[in-house]
Amino acid sequence: MKIQIITLFPGMFEGYFSSSMMLKAQKIKKLDLKIINLRDFGLGSHKTVDDIPYGGGDGMVLKIEPLVAAVDFAKKQDKSAQVILMTPRGKMYTQKLAQELADQNAGLIIICGRYEGYDERITKYVNRQISIGNYVLTGGELPAMVIADSVVRLIPGVLGGETSAEKESFSDGKTVEHPQYTRPEEFQGMKVPEVLLGGNHAQITKWREEHSKR
Ligand code: SAM
Repeated sequence: MKIQIITLFPGMFEGYFSSSMMLKAQKIKKLDLKIINLRDFGLGSHKTVDDIPYGGGDGMVLKIEPLVAAVDFAKKQDKSAQVILMTPRGKMYTQKLAQELADQNAGLIIICGRYEGYDERITKYVNRQISIGNYVLTGGELPAMVIADSVVRLIPGVLGGETSAEKESFSDGKTVEHPQYTRPEEFQGMKVPEVLLGGNHAQITKWREEHSKR
């Protein structure tokens, strides 16, 4: 999957995507990640990307011209990509939506807002507006990482045999995974539930199902 992220802060993505599963996904060619610096599309000699809002108010707003130029650039690399705008006003992100994005067999172009947000006219150029929760972050970079991570780990072959995405929390849209334990059997007086130690698989499955529903 090709994922292109449009941001004013490309450096924020370096650590996350050069570690663990996201690094593995790139190494095995399941993820082709491109970070696009919005500043490169800024206007004039100062490469301006923001301006004061019409009507007054605090802070700055990302200008429409650099945003559209960056989206056009990304579209040229991947014509069928879905364009996603990160915004607290978007549709609430869920595991179901992550699965939808993973299944659609198209790349993603993710726009990270900053400051007070973006010129509303950018919404005409996007396929989806997504929020990762009812709270406000400083920028769209963390939300973009949330989308990329949750989608990439659903691409067949990325998790390998280590975990099965189908059995994880929310994979059926409602239940969460059962609690997990590992050694030691007892820690500071807290014991691992007896049923998990017994090796009776039918009982273990029953216990897990019950605790998953709880
Ligand atoms: N003034 C905006 C408001 O009140 O809705 C908040 C702007 S926020 C400081 C800057 C950018 O961070 C947003 O444009 C968006 O791209 C991103 N952002 C912040 N919180 C988000 C959330 N919960 N979900 C998705 N994106 C978010």
